[in-house]
Amino acid sequence: MGVSGLPAARALHGLGAEVTVVNEGADERARAQAAELTALGVTVRLGDGASLPDGTELVVTAPGWRPDKPLFLAAAEAGVPVWGDVELAWRLRRPGAAPWLAVTGTNGKTTTVRMLASILRAAGLRTEAVGNIGVSLLDAVLGDEEYDVLAVELSSYQLHWAPSLRVHSAAVLNLAPDHLDWHGSMEAYAADKGRVYEGNTVACVYNAADPATEDLVRAADVEEGCRAIGFTLGTPGPSQLGVVDGILVDRAFVAGRQKQAQELAEVADIDPPAPHNIANALAAAALARAYGVAPAAVRDGLRSFRPDPHRIEKVADIAEVAYVDDSKATNTHAAEASLAAYEPIVWIAGGLAKGASFDGLVTGAAKRLRGVVLIGAERALIAEALARHAPEVPVVDLDRTDTGAMPAAVREAARLARPGDTVLLAPACASMDMFTNYNRRGEAFADAVRELAAESG
Ligand code: ADP
Repeated sequence: MGVSGLPAARALHGLGAEVTVVNEGADERARAQAAELTALGVTVRLGDGASLPDGTELVVTAPGWRPDKPLFLAAAEAGVPVWGDVELAWRLRRPGAAPWLAVTGTNGKTTTVRMLASILRAAGLRTEAVGNIGVSLLDAVLGDEEYDVLAVELSSYQLHWAPSLRVHSAAVLNLAPDHLDWHGSMEAYAADKGRVYEGNTVACVYNAADPATEDLVRAADVEEGCRAIGFTLGTPGPSQLGVVDGILVDRAFVAGRQKQAQELAEVADIDPPAPHNIANALAAAALARAYGVAPAAVRDGLRSFRPDPHRIEKVADIAEVAYVDDSKATNTHAAEASLAAYEPIVWIAGGLAKGASFDGLVTGAAKRLRGVVLIGAERALIAEALARHAPEVPVVDLDRTDTGAMPAAVREAARLARPGDTVLLAPACASMDMFTNYNRRGEAFADAVRELAAESG
């Protein structure tokens, strides 16, 4: 009965299905929602997520539920199909409904999908960024609003449960180990991500710097005539988008692409113009161009795009030191991207590691680090990696996880920083040891920075 479950139950009930909702929790919120659903005529079982109700013909699951749950095993044994919310939305589209341009990947999905929606809007198209963000897919598909095309963010969980999805075009931005506890292995995680390419009709967009994404294109069974389109931060080859002298160029959707390229936008049009974000912009541009959007709309859409909070967000400059909030860097791959965007850096990191190793991250960033301030439950893992690979970098290990830890961390960082440096919150870890979520962590950082700014006049 979370974000995806309630709309699914309502939609299915509205279509005349006999719906039973099973929910593991039975707290007050769940009981209130259960009362609402029961009043509609939906059966609700609270505190029971294990058994398959008798007579079930279809299971629709919330994306977060792990595939090895007994309920799914029971469904498989009984030959009952299991769909996620995305599969349900896909199947419930009306005839002639808006095509989907889909984005997945370990990091950068939300940013890319929102850039894409901004570009499509600049082209005068009726569109929305949907999926993991903002408007739910079911609402977009079943609501009264009419769309020309949808920019859809898809997680690996959602793709796992979306067997019949066949989109217009899709991009896999990158692939790094994440959520392996859910998927069971890197191979299974990659395979679920790769599902996004299955049956694409116009373009499969891959990251030329991440061969695993191109492998997924090769493995996919696509429609006849569907093209593989790469994006690169370097000079693009034929059928690629890339960057030449600070200009984003298209060598894929132009006539005579062996010799010609089309200018789309300038790197300076992208906010922030960090390498990983230029990659996101190229992926968004590739999907928009696959849909037939004109170059000028790509430029206008990128120019008017502003990133969501806590994603490499500049909070303040104090005494010539920039304070940047990338609380959304909840894994090492994301933190690597933002650590690559600044120099020198005072890095604030730590939290819940989710089984990650920090050796690669620390090795790559070592030269750019002025100092490090560690917070959170599993900060020792980062401290050990720093001791191994960057022993000369000063480390302040804050042995606390209370609410005062963030202001203390910001103060320590300010002490380590020199004019021209960037203090960067890029935890490389989940936030739940100290905060409700990454938003709260980012807000705590921003509050502490503003406090410091007020004090420094
Ligand atoms: P997602 O929706 O996949 O979680 P977001 O767009 O919300 O991605 O970005 C999450 C974080 O990932 C950002 O704060 C940044 O640290 C990092 N990031 C964004 N784009 C990329 C990318 N293309 N490659 C690596 N890291 C990225």
